[in-house]
Amino acid sequence: MPDAAQIAADLRALFGADAVLTEAEDLAKYESGWRYGKGRALLAVRPGTTADVSRLLAYCHAGGLRVMPQGANTGLVGASNPDASGEMLVLSLERLNKRLEIDPVNRTALVDGGVLLSSLNEALVAHGLMFPIDLGADPTLGGMIATNTGGTRLLKYGDVRHNLQGLEVVLADGTVIEALNFLRKNNTGLDLKQLFVGTSGIFGVITGAVLQVVPVPKQHATALVGCASGETVLALLQALERELADVFTAFEVISAEALTPVFRHHTDLRNPYGASQAPAYTALVELSSTLPLTALDLPEVLEERLGAFMEGEAGEGITDIFMGKPEEFWSLRHHISESLRSEGKVLAFDISVPRSRMATFTEAARAILMAEYPFVRCCDFGHWGDGGTHLNLVWDESTSPVATAELAPVLQGRIYDLAVLEFDGSYSAEHGVGPHNQRFYDAYTREPVRQLNGAIKAHLDPGRILGTTRLD
Ligand SMILES: Cc1cc2nc3c(=O)[nH]c(=O)nc-3n(C[C@H](O)[C@H](O)[C@H](O)COP(=O)(O)OP(=O)(O)OC[C@H]3O[C@@H](n4cnc5c(N)ncnc54)[C@H](O)[C@@H]3O)c2cc1C
Repeated sequence: MPDAAQIAADLRALFGADAVLTEAEDLAKYESGWRYGKGRALLAVRPGTTADVSRLLAYCHAGGLRVMPQGANTGLVGASNPDASGEMLVLSLERLNKRLEIDPVNRTALVDGGVLLSSLNEALVAHGLMFPIDLGADPTLGGMIATNTGGTRLLKYGDVRHNLQGLEVVLADGTVIEALNFLRKNNTGLDLKQLFVGTSGIFGVITGAVLQVVPVPKQHATALVGCASGETVLALLQALERELADVFTAFEVISAEALTPVFRHHTDLRNPYGASQAPAYTALVELSSTLPLTALDLPEVLEERLGAFMEGEAGEGITDIFMGKPEEFWSLRHHISESLRSEGKVLAFDISVPRSRMATFTEAARAILMAEYPFVRCCDFGHWGDGGTHLNLVWDESTSPVATAELAPVLQGRIYDLAVLEFDGSYSAEHGVGPHNQRFYDAYTREPVRQLNGAIKAHLDPGRILGTTRLD
């Protein structure tokens, strides 16, 4: 067991007393994840500069001390928390948040790894710009890069990977890799920064980044579209892309089983279907544009196009079209997860399959549940525009014939096997890899890929001091 008192004394001497936390009550917030992940930290250190991160990692590397890099701790696979050994030191990036330099002509922002997404967007407002990755949490930019965050507008803007120009990373031994590229075009060999995108911080600690930013749209138009089947949803998606690709920003889809609980638990939210039963699926369609309403009437365009689609042959399965305020419709989407938690035990999934197979995949999952686990409800919703679905399974633990501890792993195995082995999908569409889904990484990742990851890890972190996720 590392000598915590000696290490704390050494680190206080290097970084100042208030950079090092050792008391149980101070460490608690770094030890538990948002949804999964609970461990015990040796201590937590909060360096404020890249040079201090470098000094800290050199110290840990020399002493063989294991380190967990942590941003805002909003990750959803338990990869940001120390393990149960009590031997890991948390390297919190919360104080590495000073650099925030915007170049409006280049349309880039240089940020420290610990800058929060909200702080970046607040600074960008004055320039009419924003970072286009949009989600219901407020993570750090370093954490977003380490998990390659997707978000609700991936359809238009892509994920973090697509909006990243350069990186500054500190390797496990303290070496600083400065690759803060401000160029849009720079074809000079391996795009090294991609090694650190979506790899859960196990190859290095991200201390700085150059991000591409985009103009803030001047107007949005949103509609809820009732669809009788998954096939109708896909026909609608295809038609909207064909006709409105330039302004098509989001396509979220909510099953009746996921939508109905929202109104049960939030009577203040308006149910557009009133007393009628919601159709199989409701698509939330969003258009946005930097053109003002006077130049392009987006709500009118959307209403007209949806109406024309409904009248056509492919639109037979459209049951309703509701035009409305973006905040109102997005609020329904954002209340799903907690409404489901009020209904019983929730087993959350973050799956993707090729978009063309979303409807058949979801039907196949439902068929398995109906045949083998009829007491489990499939409350699916998600980013169908990106081929993503949060296929959440809900059941009443008090009446379930099988205990949750036994049922949950069996359901995970069944659904992930279906997605990965039969539908060419992914068991982690956007949340990354961590202890929560490590066994599925191990099961589905081919040997040559793991060997390559192992060689990279051995080169960048030979002492294996960074993180708990294994990619080899
Ligand atoms: C309510 C809610 C909604 C969400 N919605 C979405 C969504 O729509 N789409 C989506 O993709 N995700 C979503 N997420 C997931 C989550 O927000 C992302 O995974 C997040 O971007 C992680 O950033 P963080 O700063 O919180 O990192 P943390 O949770 O602290 O860390 C996540 C991982 O990154 C590593 N890490 C953190 N900082 C660094 C660094 N500077 N250098 C190296 N490694 C680092 C950690 O070790 C860990 O492995 C959601 C989460 C919540 C709670």
